[in-house]
Amino acid sequence: MIDLRSDTVTRPGPAMRAAMAAAEVGDDVYGEDPTVRTLEERTAEILGKEAGLFVPSGTMANQVAIRAHSEPGDEIIADAHSHILLYERAAPTAVSGVMPRLVQSAAGVFDGDAVRALVHGPLPGMPAGLFPPTRLLCLENTHNAGGGTVWPLPTFAETAREARRHGLRVHCDGARLWNAAVAAGVPEKAYAEHCDSVAVCFSKGLGAPIGSLLAGSRAFIDRARRFRGMFGGGMRQAGVIAAAALYALDHHRERLAEDHAHARKLALALADLPGVAIDPARVETNILYFRLEKMAAARFAEACEARGVRVLPIGVDTVRLVTHLDVAPADVTRAIEVFTAILGRG
Ligand SMILES: *Cc1c(COP(=O)(O)O)cnc(C)c1O
Repeated sequence: MIDLRSDTVTRPGPAMRAAMAAAEVGDDVYGEDPTVRTLEERTAEILGKEAGLFVPSGTMANQVAIRAHSEPGDEIIADAHSHILLYERAAPTAVSGVMPRLVQSAAGVFDGDAVRALVHGPLPGMPAGLFPPTRLLCLENTHNAGGGTVWPLPTFAETAREARRHGLRVHCDGARLWNAAVAAGVPEKAYAEHCDSVAVCFSKGLGAPIGSLLAGSRAFIDRARRFRGMFGGGMRQAGVIAAAALYALDHHRERLAEDHAHARKLALALADLPGVAIDPARVETNILYFRLEKMAAARFAEACEARGVRVLPIGVDTVRLVTHLDVAPADVTRAIEVFTAILGRG
């Protein structure tokens, strides 16, 4: 089966499993797992931050960050189609008690004006303290629902700077910051330096089975550690999974460019098929969305499945494909054959 639903479906290969089996471990809640410590230090260094905190999921990394940056009753600003607001089970409101304010953007990228428009200025004649404090801006890079969009670095920097000018902290949901860095040709820290905190996933394109990391200043991470514990995210001999993440950092970062090339190839082939709406120029990394004009997405997915290809129908007419470590060049060719067989030639 060629699984193009998500980059989370990868399975650890023999070398990664060997690294996991050989991992030195200890009780990480006591700070005694050397492999977790190494992973936290190395990832923080890559991101140009003082400290890192290993957590089970990207959702926990984001939600621990939101909780650590805010107090209940604060406001946060995020894109209307951000992972934090769409796919994290209303955690900002349910867990941190913050009020999300939404930016309506094109594909998840917006500028400082969009932030300024949502920050409450002093209004003459209005009572003091009428508005809740706007505490945090969340940026997502690459942007998942936008189609794996890469933030242009100057836009990212300007938007973050504008937020900070208004006293906001800036958090980056960088589940796929690795992809953004490769696609933009800049180091991860070039984005991270504009943020107070960054969440990254090892379990997406990097191909580790489990794990994400939150990075920031030492004081921030000390506070975040308290909330990781509160959310039930303290892990014991977690070196077993941290070893997989370390292996992924060493071996699977550069190769993300292959996933991006595969996604472009799929997009170009789909653009030639009848009844498919897609703009290949907008496919920048490993995620692509297309609309079907003559077939329901669910029926298309069933037809693909019957021919050995899994795709993700999202909504009535929209399909998502994601390329990853376990998609070989021959799989891309095969998937294109399957799509052509189902949709016919243009
Ligand atoms: C996958 C993802 C996350 C975190 O997901 P988990 O499944 O909780 O690890 C966060 N942000 C984005 C943009 C994602 O794609």
